[in-house]
Amino acid sequence: MTSCDVAIIGAGPYGLSATAHLSAIKGLEVRTFGEPMSFWDRNMPTGMLLRSNWTATTIAHPEKRLSLDSFRDETGNAFAAPVSLERFVQYGLWYQRQAVPGLDRRKIERIDSSSGGFRLNLGDGEVVKARRVVIAAGIASFAWRPPEFQNLASGMTSHTSEHCDLSGFSGKQVLVVGGGQSALESAALLHEGGAEVEIVSRSASVHWLQGSLSKTLHHKMGRLTSRMLYAPTDVGPACISQLVARPDMLRRLPRSIQDRIRLRSVRPAGARWLVSRLRKVPIQFGRSVVSAVADGDRVKVRVDDGTERTVQHVFLGTGYRVDIAKYRFLSPGLQESIKCYKGYPQLEHGLETSVPGLHILGAPAAWSFGPLMQFVSGTHYACQELKRRIVR
Ligand SMILES: Cc1cc2nc3c(=O)[nH]c(=O)nc-3n(C[C@H](O)[C@H](O)[C@H](O)COP(=O)(O)OP(=O)(O)OC[C@H]3O[C@@H](n4cnc5c(N)ncnc54)[C@H](O)[C@@H]3O)c2cc1C
Repeated sequence: MTSCDVAIIGAGPYGLSATAHLSAIKGLEVRTFGEPMSFWDRNMPTGMLLRSNWTATTIAHPEKRLSLDSFRDETGNAFAAPVSLERFVQYGLWYQRQAVPGLDRRKIERIDSSSGGFRLNLGDGEVVKARRVVIAAGIASFAWRPPEFQNLASGMTSHTSEHCDLSGFSGKQVLVVGGGQSALESAALLHEGGAEVEIVSRSASVHWLQGSLSKTLHHKMGRLTSRMLYAPTDVGPACISQLVARPDMLRRLPRSIQDRIRLRSVRPAGARWLVSRLRKVPIQFGRSVVSAVADGDRVKVRVDDGTERTVQHVFLGTGYRVDIAKYRFLSPGLQESIKCYKGYPQLEHGLETSVPGLHILGAPAAWSFGPLMQFVSGTHYACQELKRRIVR
């Protein structure tokens, strides 16, 4: 058995940034586990473009180094916003090599409480003891599959997170369910890859994001006004964005207002650059799928307007629902001790759970610290707050 002061689980933007921040504390022994940038590399479609703007795509570093600008300048890669998924993965790996060179790629199978801290079991039987644990394990476990599709064989339906290569759908009839960025972008990529695509969305229309509106604002009102309305973190609509960028202030508001701000900031929406790419893709708005059953090697889908269609595959762009009970590596005892609300842990300062010494970063922190936590730009606040708590 080996031991350390802090074990960090996850090597995506949050785990990498947390490691960079905590490693800067003198005398603290930090160990980090996980496959670097694996969710972005394996669970998002090749060809995807990041929705967040350039500034909001930098992973936080305690000395403000290793920004997206430095990556571009030091590697000589010429690219601009919107940043492609491929470039962002390269950036994350570049950040990891410099800030987290000792990364242990092994998976943590189980975390239990033990005297004076936690026991972490690795897949190969090794046990690591840690005084504190920081969970930055992302949203892959939370992919939401509506019950209407649960009886279909996996070859007939899949969640967007199950694919990175969409080329296998070329020439196939595919129904995409959902109206958010991941459904719309997958539909565009499937269409461009030669699939026959239709979208069914519960929303009455697509809410297109402000990208170009922001440019228009820059033009008409000037950079200053635009900056007053939109924080550089790029989460939330005009004005609200400034509040979302300040979780300490947001947390002081009544719960009902915090909830409204969270929903308003992450409602299903599409980036403007998708408008032209989806022009030839039929979209059924304000509609839901009521049933989906196997019909030979196809799927018969009934929609609530009474229409039916038979397709070869149903693609679920139905998003993610945080529920930390789905983090299977948490022992049942630990699960029970973490105070939660509707699947979200209730976190205190330093993003610490009700179990002292156990912290959770990323999307599960959104109920306590707001929607910023669901995005890369939240690494700045979250990792500084974590560091402050640990130093104290
Ligand atoms: C389609 C799509 C597009 C998106 N676009 C954007 C965008 O443009 N901008 C933006 O800011 N956000 C975007 N997001 C949100 C994005 O997922 C999060 O911002 C980001 O991934 C959060 O980073 P993370 O470190 O919390 O999680 P992840 O990046 O998911 O990292 C999780 C890490 O945990 C590791 N891990 C998990 N379980 C274990 C275990 N048991 N043991 C060891 N390691 C483990 C994984 O290997 C991985 O390294 C998008 C999400 C989706 C689905």
